[in-house]
Amino acid sequence: MKVLLVGGGGREHALAWRIAESPLLTKLWCAPGNPGIAEHAELVPIGAESIPALVSFARDNAVDLVVAGPEAPLTLGLADALEAIGIPCFGPGAAAARLEGSKSFTKEVLDAARAPTAAWTRFDDPAAARAHIRAAGAPIVVKADGLAAGKGVVVAATVEEAEAAVADIMESRVHGAAGATVVIEECMMGEEASFFALCDGTRAIPLAAAQDHKRVGDGDTGPNTGGMGAYSPSPAFTDAVRDEVMERVVNPVLAEMGRRGAPFRGVLFVGLMLTATGPRVIEFNVRFGDPECQVLMMRLRGDILPALLAAARGDLSGVSLGWSPDPALVVVMAARGYPGAVTKGEPIRGLDRAAVVPGARVFHAGTARGADGGIVASGGRVLGIGASAPDLRAARDAAYAAVDALDWPGGFCRRDIAHRGL
Ligand code: ATP
Repeated sequence: MKVLLVGGGGREHALAWRIAESPLLTKLWCAPGNPGIAEHAELVPIGAESIPALVSFARDNAVDLVVAGPEAPLTLGLADALEAIGIPCFGPGAAAARLEGSKSFTKEVLDAARAPTAAWTRFDDPAAARAHIRAAGAPIVVKADGLAAGKGVVVAATVEEAEAAVADIMESRVHGAAGATVVIEECMMGEEASFFALCDGTRAIPLAAAQDHKRVGDGDTGPNTGGMGAYSPSPAFTDAVRDEVMERVVNPVLAEMGRRGAPFRGVLFVGLMLTATGPRVIEFNVRFGDPECQVLMMRLRGDILPALLAAARGDLSGVSLGWSPDPALVVVMAARGYPGAVTKGEPIRGLDRAAVVPGARVFHAGTARGADGGIVASGGRVLGIGASAPDLRAARDAAYAAVDALDWPGGFCRRDIAHRGL
């Protein structure tokens, strides 16, 4: 089977590694990929958002399956364009990808599916939003309706803070057009978990859950990031919680998307708050999380390729995947300055030493080849240092041993990944 993987981060490195192990694979390309992915795939110099070029490449090379890593190509209609020429794509069409792009659309779908989530109201008028906040009281959550790179959400402890968020988002338009509308939500309390389900449009099979670390600093301090580390399984996410989420969230949402003529194929990422009254949905994403994908791929047992193909073709019947009981975790190494401006081009040495730490595995995210052929940093989040072991503490120790084997003065990481699990 010939496969084109789209993307070039740590998530795609983890997917490339597992896809390359499949005995069904005859050829793997990755567009645009990165130097770590180049160990498993032939890199193609096409950007992940260049839809016509990706579609032409898939057609000209008789690709059997396209696997979309990030959400942007899906939002731009990659799966729809491939479907039109008969090539299966792992990832939803643009209509179903709205589950990630619009918070009010997601809330409408959740309500129609009677899935548990925070009570919410949508406002186009800042005065009405303020009146609602004063009537409801704090804590309360204010969200820009559109995508704002993780920065469009304010969990306000006071009414004043919530009103200030309305002014910033709707009047000052700090997130641009994404703030024309806000969603104001009840504040849910509990532990957060990310759960993933493979979907074929009508059926779903559960994958595993993970917990990530959004803040840049130890002890969950500092600004939000794309994710500084993750671990799986999540002790709070029991089998009973998984069954409840499948029954009350994933299956009804799939049915509702089908009714709307936007069947969901691919991986549904369910962001959950585990509250005292049960799991409730915070958000959906329409692709694997990064770095969560890295820990999931470390725990996966069996061949992922037939599962990806079956989901893309719309028939998951007969597919099952196993999971190692051994926990896995990943520590993200970022370039100093992240999530702000970073310096690029700094050499990273010691990758070979890190890779031989027992149980550890290095995933490339924002790396490139320097002039001398060595690996250099080329982004904000640069490496994912993963490890798995029979217990979480041993996995953590292995991951940090691999981190300490690196020689990269400009890099940093959190030192407390998996603290909740430990
Ligand atoms: P963006 O659209 O800006 O990229 P996002 O998609 O990351 O943001 P959400 O996942 O909806 O936004 O929210 C971000 C975080 O805010 C959540 O991980 C959670 O910690 C918190 N949060 C969101 N909604 C609620 C809520 N109703 N109650 C409590 N906390 C919430």
